[in-house]
Amino acid sequence: MADADWLRERIRDVPDFPSPGILFRDLTPLLGDAEAFRFAVNAIADAFEGHRIDKVVGIEARGFILAAPVAYRLDAGFVPVRKSGKLPWRSESEEYALEYGADRLELHADAVAAGEKVLIVDDVIATGGTARATARLVERLGAKVVGLGFLVELTFLAGREKLDGYDVMSLVAYP
Ligand code: AMP
Repeated sequence: MADADWLRERIRDVPDFPSPGILFRDLTPLLGDAEAFRFAVNAIADAFEGHRIDKVVGIEARGFILAAPVAYRLDAGFVPVRKSGKLPWRSESEEYALEYGADRLELHADAVAAGEKVLIVDDVIATGGTARATARLVERLGAKVVGLGFLVELTFLAGREKLDGYDVMSLVAYP
């Protein structure tokens, strides 16, 4: 039976990547397993099936891998949120804090419309800063964030606290 533990067995823990002290959750074994990939995509899509989602927003870069098939499943459009300077057209931009310093995320100004229902998808929620900045971008364009879906949640980093009031779901949680 496919469940959280079954998915977890397909996630590789890589110590000290990309920098010392970080335990990186490498999803490539899970993504490379046809059954696990399909299960993960379907589980995120199923959780928001009844909401008539208009757009699924994926966060660069690993978020794209899950967000695109979730959008397909939900009969919704796919929208990329990208790092600074990558999008070709007029964009909204939002700064967010990193462990050291800050970074910037961008969304095309016409990518979501006022009143549209949006689902945000990323591979991992850690501190929640990336997801919160993405939610702000979507809301600045007048759309509604119906929920946020993640494959992995690093619970000890308390990302959910930054997303208070939102419908947040994850498939595999690490305490
Ligand atoms: P945060 O803004 O702290 O929630 O960071 C979320 C982003 O960082 C996600 O897009 C993840 O791809 C990445 N990330 C953070 N920590 C990890 C980790 N331990 N393993 C894999 N990806 C991570």
